[in-house]
Amino acid sequence: MVVGGGPAGMEFARIATLRKHDVTIYEKGSRLGGYIPLATALPNLNTHDVQNISRWLRKEMKKLSIKIELNTDVTSDLVQQINPDLVVLATGAKEIIPQIPGIDNPMVGTLDEFLSGKRKAGKKIAVIGGHYGAEIAVSLARDGKSKPVGYTKCHNPANERTLTVENPDKVREVTLIEEGAMIGWPPFFQVQRYMVINEFLVEDGVTCLTNTRISRISGNMLTVVNAEGTETSLEVDTVILALSRLGNRDLYHQLAGAGIQLREIGDCTGPEKVEKAIVMANFLARQL
Ligand SMILES: Cc1cc2nc3c(=O)[nH]c(=O)nc-3n(C[C@H](O)[C@H](O)[C@H](O)COP(=O)(O)OP(=O)(O)OC[C@H]3O[C@@H](n4cnc5c(N)ncnc54)[C@H](O)[C@@H]3O)c2cc1C
Repeated sequence: MVVGGGPAGMEFARIATLRKHDVTIYEKGSRLGGYIPLATALPNLNTHDVQNISRWLRKEMKKLSIKIELNTDVTSDLVQQINPDLVVLATGAKEIIPQIPGIDNPMVGTLDEFLSGKRKAGKKIAVIGGHYGAEIAVSLARDGKSKPVGYTKCHNPANERTLTVENPDKVREVTLIEEGAMIGWPPFFQVQRYMVINEFLVEDGVTCLTNTRISRISGNMLTVVNAEGTETSLEVDTVILALSRLGNRDLYHQLAGAGIQLREIGDCTGPEKVEKAIVMANFLARQL
């Protein structure tokens, strides 16, 4: 029994099936792919290629006639009822919501809510979390702008490559706020992507506030504090929470000690990247 139809769950199912095990994937959502559709949902950044991985895995699921139960949120009761020989948890990661005054303000939403289209960003946006938030900040800051004629990335410094405003009505003011000193290095980034995203942040005009944490939200004001303890208030109409994530181990905690064989793979063991999820899944399935 595989819980979660992301890259980890699908890769485990693929190898285990090739090794003649009887595998069923249970996925609470309405499609396979896990987080990948959200990770690639930024309209102004070319991250679509990451979808090729889940597209290929989905085809393999079909080719190998692997049983898939969509729209099934697996609970400990369901596991006990099915009583499988092995439960492989590939349940991904979940967002962290900071407990600060005003966090329930209607202008505040999480990165996943914005990426999934459940929420729409306004014109004055604060993105909280400089690592997971860097790509959405760039994508939003590009709205209404285009690359200037003669744009050459190699020869000009980033601050001389600022985008040309095409449609002033669509332009947004984006501020990226990060508690640490560095921006643009979530666990799925590599050094090249880090360098490119930092150049994009400059050329797309995102205001980056490092060593700065949010302290409260009230009305349409977001109050931040820098390393020296100085408070500043920003007027915004949208706050996107893009903080670190936590491995989703809810089901593990419910099932641990119940006499069921349990294994965890992928982001539920600690959020990272597709490559790690697939390697862990492949390795576990080869040990069966
Ligand atoms: C903003 C963002 C951008 C990213 N961009 C990249 C990138 O460019 N490159 C890269 O390599 N990685 C990227 N990642 C990381 C990548 O998305 C993850 O590492 C990868 O998706 C992990 O795969 P997984 O199968 O472990 O978990 P997931 O892909 O999260 O899949 C978990 C699945 O389990 C399901 N599930 C959870 N609980 C249950 C339950 N109780 N019952 C049934 N189903 C359940 C969920 O619905 C989900 O479909 C990004 C992550 C984020 C947050």
